[in-house]
Amino acid sequence: DTVQTDLDARARELDRAHVFHSWSAQALIDPPVLAGGLGSTVWDHSGRRWLDFSSQLVNVNIGHQHPAVLAAIHAQVDELATVAPATAALARGEAARRIVDRAPAGFRKVFFTNGGADANENAIRMARLHTGRDKVISTYRSYHGNTGAAIVSTGDWRRIPNEYARGHVHVFGPYLYRSEFWATTLEEESERALRHLERVVQSEGAASIAAILLETVPGTAGILIPPPGYLAGVREICDRYGIVLILDEVMAGFGRTGRWFAFEGYDVVPDLITFAKGVNSGYVPVGGVIISDAIAADFDETVFPGGLTYSGHPLAAASIIGALDAMEAEGIVDNARRIGAEAIGPGLEELAERHELIGEVRGEGVFWALELVSDRDARTPLTAGAMGEIKKGLSARGLLPFVQDNRIHVVPPCVVTDDEVAQAMAIYDEVLGIAGRG
Ligand code: PLP
Repeated sequence: DTVQTDLDARARELDRAHVFHSWSAQALIDPPVLAGGLGSTVWDHSGRRWLDFSSQLVNVNIGHQHPAVLAAIHAQVDELATVAPATAALARGEAARRIVDRAPAGFRKVFFTNGGADANENAIRMARLHTGRDKVISTYRSYHGNTGAAIVSTGDWRRIPNEYARGHVHVFGPYLYRSEFWATTLEEESERALRHLERVVQSEGAASIAAILLETVPGTAGILIPPPGYLAGVREICDRYGIVLILDEVMAGFGRTGRWFAFEGYDVVPDLITFAKGVNSGYVPVGGVIISDAIAADFDETVFPGGLTYSGHPLAAASIIGALDAMEAEGIVDNARRIGAEAIGPGLEELAERHELIGEVRGEGVFWALELVSDRDARTPLTAGAMGEIKKGLSARGLLPFVQDNRIHVVPPCVVTDDEVAQAMAIYDEVLGIAGRG
């Protein structure tokens, strides 16, 4: 009705007038109005609905408005809404215990932050203090967050105007579809990417390198599943040269790949694990570092030089407890694994058979990318203009997409159902059909 339509108009008007948005030319954007959601669906004030195949910023793993998470937050609000970091709070301890219970043996401590960037920031600080070294190696195809060391660790275009932190070195990671190593098989790609990494370590001076920081599965950069042996090989290089391995599980962790941690699938155990997003599906902002015993022990008798007013905020802690318990009880991580293998993967492969535009399908769990090309042989990325039309087309047909460069990332909540996946496939099919006709 008109009142509800007015609310959408008002939201848009206030947003345009007063809200300054991330990573945007402010006058050139037109963000959608969202007013509510449930599970894998969101809607505006007027009741227009979309299937949320973005999970917002790939963070709403448990789906929208999960009642167990809401109840946990409500109960904590009534008990104690805020508390200083230098206190012992039951909810904070319970949240930390649930996180380390899912980590490998030898991880018993969690440092809570406000989000993913400051998780990486603090992991880098710990690695530098632990090794007494300075440099951090990360990949060009990465995103690690928007603060000092995290944005300079980031490889993509967002790093370039922000390069004020020192001691950062970048390498190319494995990505067979657009290999930097002239590789034609996954094995070659893995081997050559490892050789490149080791040569950079040696050339930079191994004794100057504190950490190698990698997204277990690079997310924003294209859901680049690591080839066999790559992460295990990185672990070996770290061990050979005394380098701390930080795996960024901010996007890949807590169910997205169909496992609690993405690295469980790749025969590797890091020294530091950073997380955010899926741990509580972003109902309250939070992130953190899971610290191996060897690094945690450095700060038993020595002060850790870092902290945050909201480290382990009780509402964040309560939301983690609510989210992790519900994900466990309801088999939500298992659902992500099953639906990836049985519905999303096969559905996207079928689309690739029908649409020349799809150059590659890759992913697992609820973490998939369609790489769109105008020429399959030359692998020419589809233009920004064409991608913009596809994004509009998907949204107009009731699917909230995640579009990045020349890719559609198919990243619904872990609770997505077979029926919702079927609806989404029909929408992708229709829109790719129109785009393919040019
Ligand atoms: N690391 C990865 C892999 C991410 O995908 C992101 C955000 O998208 C971040 C770090 C930064 O997290 P935040 O935006 O919570 O600071």
